Amino acid sequence: MHLKSLTLRGFKSFATATILRFEPGINCVVGPNGSGKSNVVDALAWVMGEQGAKNLRGGNMADVIFAGTSKRPALGRAEVSLTIDNSDGVLPIDYTEVTISRTLFRSGGSEYAINGTSCRLLDIQELLSDTGMGREMHVIIGQGKLDEVLKAGAEDRRGFIEEAAGVLKHRRRKEKALRK
Ligand code: ATP
Ligand code: MG
Repeated sequence: MHLKSLTLRGFKSFATATILRFEPGINCVVGPNGSGKSNVVDALAWVMGEQGAKNLRGGNMADVIFAGTSKRPALGRAEVSLTIDNSDGVLPIDYTEVTISRTLFRSGGSEYAINGTSCRLLDIQELLSDTGMGREMHVIIGQGKLDEVLKAGAEDRRGFIEEAAGVLKHRRRKEKALRK
């Protein structure tokens, strides 16, 4: 399994549709300060279901929508699609290529889709949960994250391990079932 491409439309500084293509192995994003490298990483986290505006370096979720510049007006929606090569079948879905998409409207609504069919956030979280790309996003090591892991207490450390091992999904399902 590897990431094939990421398409951003109206996400942060990417006002017009921008497609990044990735190859298997290590890929690097390079560019001057402020050119949008971290925004690309934010887009990856966002399309995989990140719910914390702070983790996306914003005050609230609408901050991910292109806010406009002196030359270009603000946009009403942000849209990100991530295409994953699933020819080895790591994702539990019967497609060799899987595209997950997320759209947020400035008016507040949001949409998620898997291969063009609309779905719930939960469906995306479950699809990714055994891959290490799960909802706690330990797959993205941001600034300060290493310190956080090293300084974590026993319980948080256990959470990291459970997520990596794919146990967290079942724990959350159990908690949800018990709440009903
Ligand atoms: P550095 O090398 O300094 O880490 P970078 O390439 O990681 O830089 P980013 O942090 O990805 O840069 O991009 C910052 C730019 O994105 C800023 O110019 C900021 O104004 C712009 N930006 C962030 N959110 C939005 C938004 N909602 N609308 C328009 N522009 C935005
Ligand atoms: Mg940066």
